[in-house]
Amino acid sequence: MKEIIVAKFGGSSLANGHQFKKVRDIVKADSRRRYIVPSAPGKSRPGDTKVTDLLYLCHDKMQEGLDISPVFSEIEKRYQEICRDLGLSIGIEEVLGEIRERILAGASRDYLASRGEYLNGIILSQYLGFEFIDAKDIILFNDEGRLDLKASEDRIRKRLKSVDYGVIPGFYGADGDGNIVTFSRGGSDITGSIVASSVRASLYENWTDVSGFLVADPNIVKDAKTMEVVTYKELRELCYMGAPVLHEESIFPIKMLGIPINIKNTNRPEDKGTLIVDESMNPPIRDSVTGISGKKDFTVIRVEKNLMNSEIGFIRKLVSIFERYRISIEHIPSSIDSLSVVVSNSNIAGKLEDIIEEIKRECQPDDIVIYPDMALIAVVGRGMAKTRGISGSIFTALANQGVRIRMISQDSSELNIILAVDREDFDKTVETIYGVIQQK
Ligand code: ASP
Repeated sequence: MKEIIVAKFGGSSLANGHQFKKVRDIVKADSRRRYIVPSAPGKSRPGDTKVTDLLYLCHDKMQEGLDISPVFSEIEKRYQEICRDLGLSIGIEEVLGEIRERILAGASRDYLASRGEYLNGIILSQYLGFEFIDAKDIILFNDEGRLDLKASEDRIRKRLKSVDYGVIPGFYGADGDGNIVTFSRGGSDITGSIVASSVRASLYENWTDVSGFLVADPNIVKDAKTMEVVTYKELRELCYMGAPVLHEESIFPIKMLGIPINIKNTNRPEDKGTLIVDESMNPPIRDSVTGISGKKDFTVIRVEKNLMNSEIGFIRKLVSIFERYRISIEHIPSSIDSLSVVVSNSNIAGKLEDIIEEIKRECQPDDIVIYPDMALIAVVGRGMAKTRGISGSIFTALANQGVRIRMISQDSSELNIILAVDREDFDKTVETIYGVIQQK
């Protein structure tokens, strides 16, 4: 069977005519790039607004009974400019006119938001000479507004069977009644992933404006290196702890099939980018640590009680208090007679005092100590299990920098080490760990 690559291009890759040309060069450079998923135009120049944001604004104006003309003209201008720069006369004005009519007739918020991708899809398909396939016919949502993956995959397979080269706009689909439904923001990533899983692509390329994921936040570590290969599992850990990456839901359709994702830079297509693969593919291990990420706003509640470890049901009693308050617990590191519950500040806000009272009443602890303003840092890497002394080197370096480590948690898979430090030590900790792993 001929190999297929599904390529999704983000808003910055399709923000103006100049960017469209780069996209065409990329698509045409490899005939395996058969199904292309565009986002709506992002910011074209400083001070610009993303088209999706303009569309949401248009809807808000409509709801408030205000004139939509100023905002809608801005949207029209963006698309007209792109067509002009590409030398395309494809009657985009008429399509825009129809959309305007639908808005004035009270079209839904999702319908409006989806038009950014719809229009970009029409333009890109014409520009590439590929068939346009409306996502409303192949990305299907159920009546609760949730994606029906199975039905969508069946539909996509049927529809694309006879399409050698096609453009499918990202971000939206339709429910059983044909109403447009969008994913959450950034959802074109999900469309690309569903198309890739349906056609059993050999690769899902996600083209953006960075050459992959960086090992650490570039605002903290200048010249941080790019991750060459990361597994889905590692990525999940890194995303969870704050690294801004792909839309979370975009991974599951292809993960099960072991289809790799390649994050690539439209402005530097020669860069390798980051390859995301399933652990079952046993990707080579080059570095002990794949990435470092973290978040700043946590509260740690340490509960102490003599002979806690032999009191049956103690942990259950404690965690069920948090459950009753609908607070998700991030970590529970423990020692023999003490246990810490780590929760995010936003989750516990306004509830902390009540929870402490309940812990006192139900668990009868000897002491409760609260540490507000803690930062958690995750050091993630499938290579850590094979590297002796990595935690030792990290802890020594942090001690030399005067960083006080408040908590350490490492699970037995040795995929990550999680450290809690005082919030003000966050940047120093990330920098120091990065320095250590560069020497390993
Ligand atoms: N255009 C949508 C957004 O701005 C979806 C996407 O770009 O993936 O969120």
